[in-house]
Amino acid sequence: MRPFELTAPSTVDEAAGADGTFLAGGTTLVDLMKLEVLTPRRVLDINQVPLHGIDTGDGLRVGALERMSDIAAHPGVYPMISRALLLSASQQIRNMASIGGNLMQRTRCTYFRDVATPCNKRNPGSGCPAIEGANRMHAVLGTSDSCVATHASDVAVALVALDAELKLVSDAGTRTVKLADFYQLPGETPEQEHDLRPGELITEVVVPKLDWAAHSTYVKVRDRQSYEFALCSAAVALDIQDSRIAGARIAAGGVGTVPWRLPAVEAALVGAPVTTEAFEAAASVAAEGARPLSGNKFKPALLRRTIVRALRELTEGSR
Ligand code: SF4
Repeated sequence: MRPFELTAPSTVDEAAGADGTFLAGGTTLVDLMKLEVLTPRRVLDINQVPLHGIDTGDGLRVGALERMSDIAAHPGVYPMISRALLLSASQQIRNMASIGGNLMQRTRCTYFRDVATPCNKRNPGSGCPAIEGANRMHAVLGTSDSCVATHASDVAVALVALDAELKLVSDAGTRTVKLADFYQLPGETPEQEHDLRPGELITEVVVPKLDWAAHSTYVKVRDRQSYEFALCSAAVALDIQDSRIAGARIAAGGVGTVPWRLPAVEAALVGAPVTTEAFEAAASVAAEGARPLSGNKFKPALLRRTIVRALRELTEGSR
């Protein structure tokens, strides 16, 4: 690990606008500093900054430093959010990792984490060995000729499905950005992953109120039952009225370079009966535009099946 300067601001005003890399739970940053993937000159430990609180009175408002395990355990949190959190990482990591840090976590692409290999995201212009290399875990949606890395966060998938927003503060003021707009496709600049401006601090995650999000779930398919990233996942919520679907929210993880909202699947579900056949018909459009790689040709079919499985699990007993 390279030497760095450590400071610990205690207020939002001290932290926002400061020059440096923010440290919250440290579950991503410290790993990447040890690997020398990230070599910040200055680290700002923000754990004393008052960015806590979970308010479920009108939707959901969560302070950026709230720990994953505390959010998951809160009884007022929508099920797709709590399930996505509980299916992430290990209990020890969930006890340490903050929601803000989770949303800022870096890709698990093995080439990105190995400084002995080229990687356009880590070293722009150096190439992308994953495109012709080991790419089983990589994305099939939103990819480019520069990068095919999968977005790693589970809870971001649920939050994108629910139209969550981030509150961002810097010395230039406060702004709010939809999480779906915050993440950027790799295009020709995969090193630019999000719309966080220099010195800007995530202070709060806000989920608009959606009563029927109480009827939601998150299904994660992975190579082992715990402590593993998604091969594919689906966050689903349904509003069912008189045995028909009146509203749907669907997003997928493990398949996209960003958390992948599926508006065409949502539209196909609205007005449909609550049947497996209707779920399969809607899911059939989920992977449109997918660009599978040599090692992940199974992902489009897995995406369709994961969505159907999530919808079936959510409607068990009402079909
Ligand atoms: Fe780097 Fe992206 Fe290629 Fe992985 S997929 S090696 S992160 S450029």
